[in-house]
Amino acid sequence: TSITRPINQLVEDDVQNVVIIGSGPAGYTAALFNGRANLKPLVFEGMEAGPPGGALLMTTLVENFPGFPDGILGPDLVRNMRMQAQRWGAEMVPEDVVEVDLSQRPFRVRSHSRHVLTQAIIFATGSKFNRLRLPNEVRFWNRGISSCAVCDGVAPVFRDVDLGVAGGGDTACEDALFLSNYGNKIHMFIRGSDFRASRAMVAKVICNPNIEIHFNTKVKDVYGDDVSPDHASPVQGVIVQDTNTGEERKIEIRGLFYALGGRPNTQLLEGSPVRLDQGGHIMLKPGTMETYLEGFFAAGDVSDSQWKQAITAAGGGCRAAISAERWLTSNG
Ligand code: FAD
Repeated sequence: TSITRPINQLVEDDVQNVVIIGSGPAGYTAALFNGRANLKPLVFEGMEAGPPGGALLMTTLVENFPGFPDGILGPDLVRNMRMQAQRWGAEMVPEDVVEVDLSQRPFRVRSHSRHVLTQAIIFATGSKFNRLRLPNEVRFWNRGISSCAVCDGVAPVFRDVDLGVAGGGDTACEDALFLSNYGNKIHMFIRGSDFRASRAMVAKVICNPNIEIHFNTKVKDVYGDDVSPDHASPVQGVIVQDTNTGEERKIEIRGLFYALGGRPNTQLLEGSPVRLDQGGHIMLKPGTMETYLEGFFAAGDVSDSQWKQAITAAGGGCRAAISAERWLTSNG
């Protein structure tokens, strides 16, 4: 098989050197690095969750990816990454992987039209975040509703105005604290009668005079105008319901941030030798991109419960690719 030859003499044959599963910044960066290393990576890009490109397809201007002083549109950023990987020989398969057999090497990977064997896998399938599915959610998505406070919270439209955070866990507390540096007053909407966050987080939130906590409060909808003046959010407020009394009322805010948790896309790995943590993230050996299964690497949001940014996903993809290349060389 290809693994018995030195890396620079590898040729494409029945057994792939490396298969990359996922098409966000992590997967495409891994493909770029493995492509440049002459490994001819095969990338399963996924289709079920939408066209290839990952979470950045859901956003507009990305202002915190280095190298673009004026920002770059999320879809353009990830399309450029894809083209760059292709230029270095990565082969793209725009299909979901529907099955992996990791019980022996080479591993087996199957999509609807392909069935391949591979020595190494880089798993970069990202994660799904939970939504409220409000009646007006689509109308105001990226125009006042966001699922990423760190990404969008510093935008001028959210400066010095009242904002809302939906959720009561650690992320919601972190987001509320973060937003309190930029917004005016931050309303936290928590469905239950208490937080689900660590005590330390809760203590910080409670002590913050800019954060108002609404327990037993369900967000029912967002309202606003389709047209808004420049540099103003079209969102004007939320309709909330008291979960005890059923009473509804309006609260004026100019932005609503979802902090409702999510789920890494690791369903394919359930029951496999790859270890997952309680939240479903792939567990990595500390300080590496290696999982506890030889030859299986992971990168991006699927294995990251903390940072979840395009740049950290891309960095992880780079590290996973270099690790996989070294592993192939030393196991050849
Ligand atoms: P993803 O980008 O999620 O890509 C994973 C890909 O794998 C998807 O295309 C998926 O379809 C595919 N996949 C899943 N299952 C399979 C399968 N079985 N087979 C094949 N493929 C599969 N970050 C920033 O740094 N700046 C921002 O401004 C910013 N804004 C954001 C705005 C929004 C609305 C969201 C949701 C996120 C934002 N982020 C931002 C976060 C950033 O998009 C993510 O951290 C990053 O995209 C994670 O990259 P990834 O490669 O790990 O996963």
